[in-house]
Amino acid sequence: MSSPVPDAARRVIGPVARSAERPSRPLGISFEFFPPKTPEMEESLWAAIRRLEPLSPDFVSVTYGAGGSTRERTHRTVKRILDETSLRPAAHLTCVEASREEVDAVIRDYWDIGVRHVVALRGDPPSGIGGVYRPGADGYANATELTGALRAIAPFEVLVGVYPEGHPESPNLAHDIDVLKAKVDAGATRGITQFFFDTDAFLRFVDKARSAGVTIPISPGIMPVSNFKGLVRMAGACGTSIPGWLANLFDGLDGDPETRRLIACSVAAEMCAKLEEEGFSDFHFYTLNRADLVYAICRVLGVREPAPAPAEAAA
Ligand SMILES: Cc1cc2nc3c(=O)[nH]c(=O)nc-3n(C[C@H](O)[C@H](O)[C@H](O)COP(=O)(O)OP(=O)(O)OC[C@H]3O[C@@H](n4cnc5c(N)ncnc54)[C@H](O)[C@@H]3O)c2cc1C
Repeated sequence: MSSPVPDAARRVIGPVARSAERPSRPLGISFEFFPPKTPEMEESLWAAIRRLEPLSPDFVSVTYGAGGSTRERTHRTVKRILDETSLRPAAHLTCVEASREEVDAVIRDYWDIGVRHVVALRGDPPSGIGGVYRPGADGYANATELTGALRAIAPFEVLVGVYPEGHPESPNLAHDIDVLKAKVDAGATRGITQFFFDTDAFLRFVDKARSAGVTIPISPGIMPVSNFKGLVRMAGACGTSIPGWLANLFDGLDGDPETRRLIACSVAAEMCAKLEEEGFSDFHFYTLNRADLVYAICRVLGVREPAPAPAEAAA
């Protein structure tokens, strides 16, 4: 059957047209949140969780502050998600500033309360990104060791970090792939990437990883950006490149947050659509604890809450 959407229009309205045509092939989605610091932040986090919950994500992850600084808040947020929602929480856990014994106790506690997904990370040094990381004498040295510990304690789903443009401390991409392979050999079950905008770099990385024997699914980490200045700062620290076309899109919009938000949604949806065409069907969204952009992007991609049952709809 010929498509009602001409090719030129498809390039502009690609994902929108495709989601309207498609009978909703399920995409796997997941969302990242960070633990709130204040009662106001707690309120906006929970508003975001409630708004996104009906989209039935595969899991929602909760970050662990640099240097392990949010241990209690991460724990509390994960527990509340378990207790009060239908969502599967994935707790981020790092090796920083903790002995093996302490980390193992946290792992056991997570398993006992019903957590089945953990994002296993080395973490950044307490001095922050760019500082020199020195593992504690009695701590886990890196995410590979932490992954091994998790899998030895219980059959967790272990998610690990992936750096399609290279980790800032890495000498070259081959090293990143060796590290990823080591994490998989230690029992990692899924990779989640650092956020990126260069989809070709991501695709090249995945090709190389597959050639090196990495077979676990790799979810692209998608960051819908509306604060471009903030993004530039964050990207510099994480080793994510900012393509010229992205800078161009935001050029001159410092005083126009509304247009920046519309662009953010469009860019992220286009990236996902391109990756979907390349065969990727799982996307991990960095929500920054806000639902609106991510919710809109999911709709564009054809992800919907299930229709209400007939009795409910009639009520
Ligand atoms: C999806 C995602 C979520 C994140 N969430 C958080 C968070 O919640 N809290 C936080 O603090 N940080 C978080 N980070 C950042 C992360 O902690 C940093 O990028 C950190 O610098 C590296 O962590 P990693 O787990 O990727 O390290 P690793 O995979 O352990 O790699 C770090 C270095 O350790 C060495 N290494 C690892 N394995 C081996 C091995 N088998 N043999 C020899 N050397 C090895 C290598 O030199 C490697 O470059 C996240 C990153 C991502 C991508």
